[in-house]
Order: sequence, then structure tokens, then C-alpha cells
Amino acid sequence: TGKGKIGIIGSGLIGRSWSMLFAAAGYNVTLYDILPEQIETALVDLKDQLTKLEQKKLLRGTLTAKQQYSLITATTSLADCVKDAVYVQECVPENIELKKTVFKNLDAVVDAKCVLASSTSTFVPSLFSADLVHKSQVIVAHPVNPPYYVPLVEIVPAPWTTAEVTEFTRNIMEDIGQAPVTLTKEIEGFALNRIQYAILNESWNLVKDGILSVADIDKVMSAGLGMRYAFLGPLETAHLNAEGMENYCQRYSKTIYSTSMSFQPVPKMEGDVMKEVSRQLNEMTPLDQLPARRAWRDNCLTQLSQLKRDL
Ligand code: NAD
Repeated sequence: TGKGKIGIIGSGLIGRSWSMLFAAAGYNVTLYDILPEQIETALVDLKDQLTKLEQKKLLRGTLTAKQQYSLITATTSLADCVKDAVYVQECVPENIELKKTVFKNLDAVVDAKCVLASSTSTFVPSLFSADLVHKSQVIVAHPVNPPYYVPLVEIVPAPWTTAEVTEFTRNIMEDIGQAPVTLTKEIEGFALNRIQYAILNESWNLVKDGILSVADIDKVMSAGLGMRYAFLGPLETAHLNAEGMENYCQRYSKTIYSTSMSFQPVPKMEGDVMKEVSRQLNEMTPLDQLPARRAWRDNCLTQLSQLKRDL
């Protein structure tokens, strides 16, 4: 028994994360993949991940690892995956033609109520839902890796997505303990990547002009801005850095404007600067050490998310 049925389309990295998040909250999860062997691998991996999380006392929710695992089943039939589901989360590779095909196939088997959400990082929902019968049920719910520890989910409706679908998606994200934000309309890059790209562009230009090394530009974030940003955003940071936002603007708006007017045009991340940035990064973290560094990062995020929970 569980709360309701969730269909997950694609059993890779993100499909597995969603499966664990929904099972932790007591939903029945049915996992679908086009490759039967990939489903087998996913189930073995999910059991292993849940067991290890339980051993480390990091398991989410109130159910045991065994109970959570028993809520997850798998199928090689798309129709079975979607039948009676209240919510479907698509997690196939980031390729627009593939997304269009998968949503067309979903359109043929879904009822008139089930929400069809995509995990896409880069495609606005109108790109893959325009021609569907059930287009008003389609939405983007974009997670951030690793979703088990980074709770943000960007909810992005297409122009034809109903308000009920948007609200249902936000509510279900809150119910499973994620932190949803809702865009009022679709925009390229959603919110997280637009902000991330602004940071990347300025970092790029500072390295290009030889003002900072790659290691030092990263330190500006990890030892500076990032320390705050784990707890509050840029706007509340400003509010606190003066006697409220109005006072902050009176004090700093001219400086911010004139500094920002000195920004260079958006750089293309290619050519000699790309070679130089890569060279410095490869010295900091050689390519064969990427897996170890990712494990370190995930451990840091795990501990940070626990700190945030306990504060
Ligand atoms: P992945 O390659 O790990 O997994 C994709 C899975 O989809 C594979 O198991 C593959 O067999 C399966 N698949 C391929 N074609 C299929 C089809 N037609 N029907 C059903 N399953 C099919 O990819 P991922 O990293 O899990 O990414 C999935 C989605 O999530 C992408 O849209 C990606 O942009 C988005 N996303 C990824 C991250 C990340 O950091 N990896 C973060 C946020 C969002």
C-alpha cells in the first residue's frame, strides 16, 4: 500500500533519484525503461543505495529501506507504467527528438488527469508538448543533481499547462520534501541556469583578462558568496547588508550600476581561453580523479543538507 502511483520514465541517474524520493514519501513507484537490462541494473542499484543510506542513517522518510524498496516496481511496458498513475516523471536523455517521441507515446496511453512532468534541464515545455492531445497536462519539473540532497525543483508550465497541473506538481514536490519554485511562464534556462550562466560568464571574463586564476575565481564562490548562498539568496543578502533593501539601493545602486556597465559582452566558451581554463582545472583536479572528487562533493552536500535540516 502507498499514497498513489507515480510513473518514472527512464531508469538512469535522475530516474533512480526520483524513485527514491517518491518511495521515501510513501508513493508506489513504477519504473520504465526502454532497455530491460538497464531496469535490472537500476533495481539492484536502488536496493543497494537504500540499504547504504539506511546504514548511514541518511535514509529519508519514516519507512525502512526494505519498505521503501518494496514500493518500487519495474515494467517494460509504457502503458503499464502510466496506468492509474497520478503523476509521471520523464527522465530520458537530453535530446529534443527523443523527448518529443517519448511524450507522443505517453500522450497515447495517458488518461485525462495524470500530470506528465519532464526532468529536462534545457528544453522549455512548449518545445515537446505543442502537438499533444494532453498538452495541458505537460509541465517541466527540473531537479538539481544530486536531488536526494539538493532539494530545488524548478516548475515550468507551458503556455497551455493548466493552473491545476502547476499547483498539483508544486504540491507533490513539497509533499516529498523537495523545494519547488514555480515560474509563471517558460523562459530559456529557467531560473537556475540563467543565474549560473551569469556567474560563469563573469568568471570566464575575469580569467580571460588574467585578473584571477581559475583556483582563485572558484574560491570567490566557495569561500565567499557560496557561504551565504547555501542559506540565503542575493536579494535577502542585500536586505541584511544594509538597513533593509531600500536603504541598500540608496547606498549601492549607483555603484552596482556603474560596475555592471563595465561588464564585457557575453563570451563564447571556446578557443584559447577554453584551453587555458581547462589546463588550470586539469591541474587542480586531473580527469582520472573526477569520480573521487564527485564523491567528495556529494559527501559535502550530504553534510550541508543535514546541517540545514538541523538548524
Ligand atoms: P541517464 O543517461 O543517466 O538516463 C537516461 C535513461 O533513459 C537510461 O536508463 C536510458 O536507457 C533511458 N532511455 C533512453 N531512451 C528511452 C526511452 N525512449 N524510453 C524510456 N527510457 C529511455 O540520464 P540522466 O542523467 O538521468 O538525465 C535524464 C534527464 O534528467 C535529462 O533530461 C537531463 O537533462 C535531466 N537532468 C539531469 C541532471 C543530471 O545532473 N544528470 C540534472 C537535472 C536534470
